[in-house]
Amino acid sequence: MQENKLVAAMQPKRPRKRLFLGMLFLSVLVLGGGMAVIWYICVPGLAQIQRDLPDILGAVFVFFVILAFLCLLNMTLAAAGLPYLPVLRSRTYSLIHVLFPVAVRLGKPFGITRRQLEGSFIATSNVLFHRLGIRVSADKLLVVTPHCLQLARCPHKVTRDPDNCKQCGGCDVGALVALSHEMGFHFFIATGGTLARQIVYNTKPQAVLAIACERDLMSGIQDVYPLPAVGVLNIRSNGPCYNTHVDIEEVRRQLENIILKDGRKKRE
Ligand code: SF4
Repeated sequence: MQENKLVAAMQPKRPRKRLFLGMLFLSVLVLGGGMAVIWYICVPGLAQIQRDLPDILGAVFVFFVILAFLCLLNMTLAAAGLPYLPVLRSRTYSLIHVLFPVAVRLGKPFGITRRQLEGSFIATSNVLFHRLGIRVSADKLLVVTPHCLQLARCPHKVTRDPDNCKQCGGCDVGALVALSHEMGFHFFIATGGTLARQIVYNTKPQAVLAIACERDLMSGIQDVYPLPAVGVLNIRSNGPCYNTHVDIEEVRRQLENIILKDGRKKRE
């Protein structure tokens, strides 16, 4: 009972999707206002250079703002379970690159942290992943996790080969290795973003399940796009990047939703 309470307290809070989407809408409004001011200041100078330049610049700004609103509206519809246009997804991810730093700055005065926004992005992105109905066979799925999941004093070199893990129960690596044997997906432990990208390149999966902190998941999901990726937040009860944990039941739930039932193969 006591242990259950402790585990529940360690779980990352489920972030709200509307926080991320709301802050991005606000960012578009602020950027749109900034563009209007820039346009107004530049009009006299531009008109002197060429009569049509103010109209051209104005049209570019208006196009950007309308496109941004459409992408965000599309993402909101998708997150709400309503009909949406998957074709706008790649534009939305590019837009997030531009708008996210603005959203972080705008959130500060309201006490909204970067981590909350990143967590909200992951929740939104996971909904989009499942809405696309992505199902792959186990050998086309890559599960990747950071090195901090391994018990710091474990002597086994699991980054070279996770099967070096003795599944002693000292950390969650053992449970993930056992799951990979049971279901047949590729499982790797990466020491950093470069190695993670290298693993993706080498294994050529059709989908990725990543376990990491908010920051790494956010950048990782965007980096691997258009490869579909779902994120599971790690649990940092010992502080960041040290003896982290993951909710194995949550990982299993996600895997059961992604892996085709007849595409599971036991690994020896
Ligand atoms: S479960 Fe594996 S990685 Fe974790 S401490 Fe035990 S042997 Fe090391």
